[in-house]
Amino acid sequence: MNNKPLFPPISKTSNNRRLSLVKQLGILLVIGLLLFVSVGYVLQTRLEQTQSILNDLTLNTIPAMNNATRSALKSGELMSALESLTSATTPAERRIAELEVTEKLKALEKETSKITDNQTVIMLLKTSQEETEHLNVLIDQKLDLAYKIKVNLKKIWDLKIEADQINPPTNILPLEQTYFMQWQIALLQTLSFAYKIENTERLSDLQEIHRLLELNLQNMDVVSTNLAAPLKKQVEQINTDLRCILSDPENLAEQQANYLRIIGRTRGREHFIHNMISDYSNITNQQSLVEYNNLNGKIASLAQGMTTQKIWFICGFILLSTMIIATLGLYSYAVKRLRTLTQKINLMTKGSHNLPSNRDEIDELFQAFDEFSNTINTQTRRLESLSLTDSLTNIANRRAFDQRLLVELSSDKSSRYDLSILLIDVDYFKQYNDTYGHISGDEALQKIASSLESIINKETDLLARYGGEEFVVILPNKSAKQAEEIAQQMKQVIELINIEHKTSKIADAITVSIGIVTKVKNGKTDTDTLMKNADIALYHSKAQGRNQATHIDDIN
Ligand code: GH3
Ligand code: MG
Ligand code: MG
Repeated sequence: MNNKPLFPPISKTSNNRRLSLVKQLGILLVIGLLLFVSVGYVLQTRLEQTQSILNDLTLNTIPAMNNATRSALKSGELMSALESLTSATTPAERRIAELEVTEKLKALEKETSKITDNQTVIMLLKTSQEETEHLNVLIDQKLDLAYKIKVNLKKIWDLKIEADQINPPTNILPLEQTYFMQWQIALLQTLSFAYKIENTERLSDLQEIHRLLELNLQNMDVVSTNLAAPLKKQVEQINTDLRCILSDPENLAEQQANYLRIIGRTRGREHFIHNMISDYSNITNQQSLVEYNNLNGKIASLAQGMTTQKIWFICGFILLSTMIIATLGLYSYAVKRLRTLTQKINLMTKGSHNLPSNRDEIDELFQAFDEFSNTINTQTRRLESLSLTDSLTNIANRRAFDQRLLVELSSDKSSRYDLSILLIDVDYFKQYNDTYGHISGDEALQKIASSLESIINKETDLLARYGGEEFVVILPNKSAKQAEEIAQQMKQVIELINIEHKTSKIADAITVSIGIVTKVKNGKTDTDTLMKNADIALYHSKAQGRNQATHIDDIN
């Protein structure tokens, strides 16, 4: 006998060892989501950093560098204007240079007020303005002194021309002529010393020149005393005029010395202003340098961040690719499993179905399940019917009878109508088998069964093989009388089919004995009692000579 089950169980492939497909896909989805969020966060951070650097560049660094460049330019212009002012040789030049310096200073001040509130820078510009005013005064004084020196030199030159025009009288004595010549030489020397003063830049040299000039003037005075009028008068007049210019209190050397002092002070003040403007320029440069360094730091940090980000992106890309490959792998694995499952189900339904190719694996699986389920239902119904049918006679078996009788005896049906039972037994059947053989016995049982079946109403009644050569009939809604009538009909139909039975002690053909019981409407009984009574009635029929029907109620 084949022990294989009708429906082998569908194997649960490693379900306990492996995560379910849904869980695996869920984990992949969560990882994907996390990756997406992280990449978004990193991108957002980098964007913010870049934006901050651009803001810094636009709002701080570029303006600071522009300012530094402009300040450097303006400082340069201011310094060259200052040099022009310092080196001005005429009042007109000085005024033009002064205007330029004032204009540059104002421009610088305006520029500074726009971009910084640094107090040092503001103070430097203010002091520069004040110092420039002082410088102006000094330059005025310098030009004034230079002018005075020039005027005095001109006067000295005029005196020399005047001296050249003096004509000594024709009758002049040789000695007086000699004195006059000595005076002329002393005058030329004086002139030479006076002009030397203009180009002398050391105070000690000026003092020496002044001393020599004084000696010369004394010498000229001494010589002129030896001259006779009117020459003497002319010469002394020139001597006096010269002394006015060259001698104390305000002499030419002193003027030149003052001029040199003012030049020194001018240069000092100019250097002072120059240094302040340099400081100003340095501070603005420093500011721009600080901004520039600041920006460089930020750019370096951004570059570092970009490198880290690049590594992250590469890792993320690898992870994502792995995830996609894993998903595809899982998908194909799942599809493979679905296909295997479908094939198994098709095998179980014993049909190699050609499923439409446009369906997917899930559709195929559903259809296979559908067919499998139909097959199971059909098989179940067949099995149920087989389990309730007698295989020899093809009528209901004992099991079907028991089930039906229980239903008929159930309280709701039992109360509605009378119920009768016929228990039918073939007479002397052992002898029949002995005489005609077992196979003929089976055939006889089949004929008896189909004959009895022709009597009952299949819709309402049930004929079953009770066991061996015994049959039983359930007759719902049939009274004792009606049952007895049916029993008679059955006896007659068996007589009618006339199965030869030579060894029967009561006839030449097969006969049957019948026991009848009836449960009246609302009557109380159970299966065992009912069947026991049916058996008693049957036994009575046998005892009374067989080939007859007895109702239990008719005994006694
Ligand atoms: P009685 O009139 O008293 O009923 O006599 P009987 O011989 O019919 O009764 P008994 O109980 O002695 O014998 C019944 C016989 O029925 C015994 C057995 O050989 C026969 N039998 C029972 N079932 C089958 C079957 O399925 N096929 C065949 N051929 N014979 C069967
Ligand atoms: Mg029997
Ligand atoms: Mg019998």
